[in-house]
Amino acid sequence: MKVAVVGAGIIGVTTAWELAADGHEVTVFERRGSVAAETSFANAGVVAPGYVTPWAAPGMPKKVIGHLLSRHAPVRLHAKLSAGEIAWMWRWWRACKLSTYQANRLRMQRLAYFSRERLHRLTRDLKLDNERSDGYLVLLRTAKDHAMVQAGLASLAELNTRFEMLDAAQCRAVEPRLSDETPLHGGVYLPEDEVGNCRQFTTLLRAESQRVGVRFRFHTQVQKIVAGKTPQLIHLYAPPEESTILIRAAGESAPNDAQDTQPMALHAITESFDAIVVCAALDSAALLRPHGLKLPMQAVYGYSITAPLRRVEAHGDVGPRSALMDERYKVAISRLGARVRVAGSAEIGGSTTRHDPKALETLYKVLHDWFPGSARLSQAQVWKGARPMLPDGPPVLGRSGIDGVWLNLGHGSSGWALSCGSARLIADSIAGRTPPIDTDGLGVERLLT
Ligand SMILES: Cc1cc2nc3c(=O)[nH]c(=O)nc-3n(C[C@H](O)[C@H](O)[C@H](O)COP(=O)(O)OP(=O)(O)OC[C@H]3O[C@@H](n4cnc5c(N)ncnc54)[C@H](O)[C@@H]3O)c2cc1C
Repeated sequence: MKVAVVGAGIIGVTTAWELAADGHEVTVFERRGSVAAETSFANAGVVAPGYVTPWAAPGMPKKVIGHLLSRHAPVRLHAKLSAGEIAWMWRWWRACKLSTYQANRLRMQRLAYFSRERLHRLTRDLKLDNERSDGYLVLLRTAKDHAMVQAGLASLAELNTRFEMLDAAQCRAVEPRLSDETPLHGGVYLPEDEVGNCRQFTTLLRAESQRVGVRFRFHTQVQKIVAGKTPQLIHLYAPPEESTILIRAAGESAPNDAQDTQPMALHAITESFDAIVVCAALDSAALLRPHGLKLPMQAVYGYSITAPLRRVEAHGDVGPRSALMDERYKVAISRLGARVRVAGSAEIGGSTTRHDPKALETLYKVLHDWFPGSARLSQAQVWKGARPMLPDGPPVLGRSGIDGVWLNLGHGSSGWALSCGSARLIADSIAGRTPPIDTDGLGVERLLT
């Protein structure tokens, strides 16, 4: 089949790879100039299936309200929320019901464990080197934090996830550079979880996909989908100003990244396919709305700060060995090769361009508490990304109900951890194969009530 994939984040690129592996002729359309240029750019990189849970959970609304006025709040609400954001919060609040939460958690974790298996297989078979390290340590600052995680630990046990409860000294044995000046009660250590560079993985998988024939069209905005047995995409090649001049002058080959089959025309083009898979994260909603499909998806913004680790001659470098989560502040600290990344915050309302200094202050605080002086902060890169969040938790995978159009979107805070499994499931679904795991509750139907 001739298949179009819209979006070249981690979800679009893994989808393209799996479709090509099934023998399809695949073209990926991406409005930016490279893969992983938006939310997949600088996330925390954590792959911890047992911690892939819905943010719509019992007790969460109370916690969110309780945090609103605190200085280092993990969740922040913009002063002026739009009608869409308020409607989304209403649906989120309804999904916090215990039975809904339990059902969604099971769906997400089933997909997350399958996904980790696929990620390992791909990494091993293709020899992808994406700055990965093993192990995930959840830091519990106080006995109160320890008490708060007990319910989660029971569910880890139910899932047969390997974890160990550690005291402070044992935590420091796992992460030898952890500061002993910040009070620490203990931690939960998950030796089978990991951290890896999502953007680097996406870039490497793009190269592998091109090797097996996937075509990438960068700087190409999909403007419209025309449904049908052979659905069509209307897309516009819109390179940055300077490339436009260059192409017009040369009149032939396209520049650098765009070289792979870029049309030279600067007007909209209509192209037919046998199937279209929408992996455009938040912007999927605008592409699907004209077909009557209203996806309740909202941006939940988060930040990361990435900086080179400082080397201290006699002791090697001073940062983390792998990934950690400060449970109190919901901030992740990840080792990515020779750099450290600290990521967190959940902001509803606002935009990717407006940074909240208080949220960044929390990230710097957590890094300083646990690994003081470990990073060259003068060289830090600050990033803000928009998690494509559905109100109840799981992503949407499978048929859209629109002829010829399939969906792989809404992965929220866990798109990297869920990507390889989601991609395999969508490829199986298009091929009409029985999925290797139960996909109950991952369809779009659940959101149409
Ligand atoms: C601070 C932070 C930390 C996170 N940490 C983790 C973590 O530790 N583990 C984890 O699993 N997840 C994490 N996430 C979540 C994860 O990053 C996302 O779930 C994931 O990146 C979503 O991938 P995506 O491909 O759906 O979206 P994107 O990466 O945003 O890709 C969508 C692509 O579609 C393109 N596009 C959109 N519309 C069009 C159009 N009309 N035409 C052409 N192209 C289009 C966009 O340009 C974009 O490149 C984190 C997120 C944030 C913000």
